[in-house]
Amino acid sequence: MTVSHHLSDETLLDYANGALSACMETLVACHLTVCPHCRGRNDLADDVGGQLLAAHEPVAPHLSAVQLLDKARSKPNISVSKPPQQIGDASVPRPLGRLLPGPIESLEWRSMAPGVKQFTLSEQPRKDGAFKLLRLEPGVTLSQHTHNERELTYVVRGSYRDEIGHFRAGDIADLDNHVEHCPVVNEDEVCIALIATDAPVKYTTMLGKIMQPFVGI
Ligand SMILES: [Zn+2]
Repeated sequence: MTVSHHLSDETLLDYANGALSACMETLVACHLTVCPHCRGRNDLADDVGGQLLAAHEPVAPHLSAVQLLDKARSKPNISVSKPPQQIGDASVPRPLGRLLPGPIESLEWRSMAPGVKQFTLSEQPRKDGAFKLLRLEPGVTLSQHTHNERELTYVVRGSYRDEIGHFRAGDIADLDNHVEHCPVVNEDEVCIALIATDAPVKYTTMLGKIMQPFVGI
């Protein structure tokens, strides 16, 4: 699996500090199982706190996430942890697989719009965001939208394109409220994506606004 889209420094530091929601943590863990690059960066993020504490060096609040990671990178002998052992369906990362009642093909998918089905993984109120799998038919276009807060998407199978790039299995889209995008599923196969949001997305077209209560993300 070739991964080309990764977690942001801010998300990795929030993960290391336990500042993400349980849904977001699960999604980050999925990406870490397939991405040695982000596992190495996650070790660095863990190392930021540990080494600064060990040296009794106060964490400078004015430093940005990027600066903190640069600081950690300057420390020697940082190892890259191994991925957790994979069991079951090889394309489904273990942190996701253990939340599913069965294989992806046998889930009770709920049809939300033409070509769009979903399987909800959290019963939290929608105002608190969403955590769900989307099953998107080849060629489906999602309505253009932006975000109130952070949105993480992990591609389980298939691929899609948007204004940012081409996202394939194993890739993560780590978006904040500066990004407005319109994902289009590639024509060759079904795309299954795991999505976690901290707040409902903001659709920017009338059709999207009409569909939102039904699609629910
Ligand atoms: Zn990565």
